[in-house]
Parts: sequence; structure tokens; C-alpha cells
Amino acid sequence: MAMIQRTLLVLFIAACTLSSGCATVRRELGYALISDKTEIKLGAKFAAQIEAQQRLHPDRGLQSYIQRVTKALLPPALEDRPGIRYRVKVLDDPKQINAFAVLGGYLFVYSGLLLIAEDEAEIAGVLAHEIGHIVGRHSANQLAARFGMDFLTSLALGEDPYQLGQIASQLGSARFSRDDEREADTFGVRYAIEAGYDPRGLLRFFEKLKKLEAHRRSDLEKLFASHPPTGERIRRIERLIDQYGASGGQRHRARFVRETAVLRRK
Ligand SMILES: [Zn+2]
Repeated sequence: MAMIQRTLLVLFIAACTLSSGCATVRRELGYALISDKTEIKLGAKFAAQIEAQQRLHPDRGLQSYIQRVTKALLPPALEDRPGIRYRVKVLDDPKQINAFAVLGGYLFVYSGLLLIAEDEAEIAGVLAHEIGHIVGRHSANQLAARFGMDFLTSLALGEDPYQLGQIASQLGSARFSRDDEREADTFGVRYAIEAGYDPRGLLRFFEKLKKLEAHRRSDLEKLFASHPPTGERIRRIERLIDQYGASGGQRHRARFVRETAVLRRK
């Protein structure tokens, strides 16, 4: 693509990030800007940096459990956006109530988020939402808008651990537009339902966050910053669940408590 066209696209995406109503336009433009190959390459590099900067939870049973929950959510996501290999890692920090998606299919969830969840449906709801950000190419588009394609391409092809590390350290608190959040909710609710989960898990998790917020503001800031669960957003998720006609669904409370017991052991 000619340089001038690409610059215009980047500017347009940057403008879109600030306004609402153009998630689809941005996604279409994203295809023109950042190829799957570049996105996956860049994602792998950022994920390696995050794993080097932070502590992975050492329990292999816990890691593989969260991987299994993620895998159950993937069939419709892979139909919506083929060619992505999803990987999820639990980061060991009980004070961080956060989860985030790095472009290319790399998901991270902090042990602090698992500790305040009460069943598997809540975690599946959060993970399905993060998968929705990958399917919507939200972080790829956001990075393209912020740094420009030439820089991202050189980062994907070259070796610049300093720059990679700098950007990687900000990915956990990256802010998405309201449109991106809505789109990730729409994908996420559907993925949770298709995997047989109670889709209200995500709502229960939001309600819990709201209650906790009053007491533990500082710990919650990141997840609130990146995924503000506003009243409007909660009502919209409720409408989506009604539209799908989903009633019931599994919560898998006993299994969740058993598989995450290692987090509560002293
Ligand atoms: Zn989000």
C-alpha cells in the first residue's frame, strides 16, 4: 500500500478510536493495515516480554485448567476469525484483579481475578470477552493507530527487546473504546452460551467488581479502566442474553473450587 494511503488509514483509525460508531469500519481497515502474520508475530513477542516481566503461576494443573476453559469457548471464535491459535496463561499476583488480551491470540489472567470469582461461568464470561477483543482485532487496530504500521512491522520483524518491553508493560491496562467493549461483549456472550455456560456469569462478575470497588479501589483500577462495566453496558449484556433466549447454562462451581484450590492454600 502506498505510504500516503497508509498514513491516511492510520489517521482515520486514530480518529475512530476517539469516537463511537465505527468498530466495523476500523475492523475492515485493520485488515488492510496489519496482516494476521504480523499480528501473530508481534503478539508472540509481546507475550514473551510479559512472561519475562511478570511471574507465571507455577501450578501446572491450574494453568491447564484455565487452558481447558478457554478451549471450550473457541469453536465459534475460530469460525468468526480463523487462523488464530489461542493461548492463555495465569499470572501469579493475587492483588491484580485483571485479565487482558494481547494481539495474536495471547490471553492473560491474574490469580487475583480467579480468587474473587465464584464459579467457572464467571471466568468463562471474562475469557470469552477477551477472546472477543482478539476476534474484533481491537488491540491490533489500537496499536496500529498509536504507533503506525511501519513501526509495528519493524518491531515484528526485528529484535528490539527494549521497545517491546515498554509497550508490553502497558498492554494490561490498555483502554478500549466503548464500541470495542460492546463488540467484545457481543462476541463473548455468544461464545459463553455456545460452550454451554450460564452467560450471566459475566454479569455476576461485574456486580461483584462494583461491590468490591468501594473497598479496594486501587486494585481494581486496571480492569475498570480497560473494561468499564457501566450500567448501560450491563443492561446491554442482559438484552443480548435475552435475545439469544439463553436460560440456564452451567456454572460449574464445584469444579471451579476444586481446580483453583491451589490459590487458596497457604
Ligand atoms: Zn474489554
